[in-house]
Amino acid sequence: MGEASSKFWQLGLLGYPLEHSLSPLLHTAALHAAGLAGEYCLHAVPPDAPDDVGRLLDRVREGEIDGLNVTIPYKQTVLPYLDELTPVATAIEAVNTIYARRGYLVGDNTDAPGFLNDIARIVGWPLSDLRPAGRELPSALILGAGGSARAVAYALSYAGWHVWVAARRLEQARKLTASLRQRISTPIHHITFIGLPVLFDAVAPRFDLLVNATPVGMAPEGETSPWPDKLELPRGAFVYDLVYNPPETALLRAAREANLPAANGLGMLVEQAALSFERWTGCVAPRAATYRAVSLNI
Ligand code: NAP
Repeated sequence: MGEASSKFWQLGLLGYPLEHSLSPLLHTAALHAAGLAGEYCLHAVPPDAPDDVGRLLDRVREGEIDGLNVTIPYKQTVLPYLDELTPVATAIEAVNTIYARRGYLVGDNTDAPGFLNDIARIVGWPLSDLRPAGRELPSALILGAGGSARAVAYALSYAGWHVWVAARRLEQARKLTASLRQRISTPIHHITFIGLPVLFDAVAPRFDLLVNATPVGMAPEGETSPWPDKLELPRGAFVYDLVYNPPETALLRAAREANLPAANGLGMLVEQAALSFERWTGCVAPRAATYRAVSLNI
């Protein structure tokens, strides 16, 4: 803490566009509550200026910037610039956190542990608390097959879950499951949204957890739901929506009306930021203060 408190921390976010990012709010609150001096700057680099990405990462390598978050559209395109990837970033093939260690640029991904930690916070550790007694593996259905679906699928598979990935494009879901199958030994399947009613009719699968990892339901289109019309939500499932604005999405409202336990993705947002903050500063991130700061602004 001595060294951490005597320096001015230079943190920031690479992405485009960045006008609506909540990261400055989260990290400024974290710095303040941890008693550290510093700033969190937005580096909005348009996709037609790739040289700017290299120049920004050089500033991290040289120690001028202590830590960077990475968001759309750079989570995968920064990979060639990095010297090392953590095991979780390697598995997900995407990076949301960058820092330098002994002159090497390291890429990490805190979305996957951020998701797991938040679920654990909600249901209480271990995650198997979601699992009904007498069944072998808890099972999850993830909607979407993009970057966050990949982080969630990896996190749950790694934690020993049986995972289904549903997407509107079968090919995207197939690619995701094929690449994770090379790294995990638990069962993972893919399906289209259109196939879900057929699956439920034919097999009546039991899901302990339903995760929305699509942007469907996000403000200003808060009335739309990613769940297929006329299909009942999986009975007994915990419903987790990565979307947190609005705080109650159409999917979460349907879960409440069906008496299913549910949560939005605000806790994951806070947790992934806290884990990045800890990687950069070596200080415990004050989660309660960051949660308060961000929830007041949604
Ligand atoms: P992404 O990489 O763009 O993936 C989005 C996925 O959703 C893709 O599979 C996409 O399919 C699908 N999708 C998009 N629109 C759809 C629609 N109308 N109907 C059905 N599927 C649709 O995005 P992401 O980074 O995974 O983010 C997804 C959501 O999670 C965003 O709302 C993001 O803000 C949120 N998120 C939250 C946290 C958190 O900490 N709470 C962290 C990460 C992300 P196509 O490729 O066919 O469009």
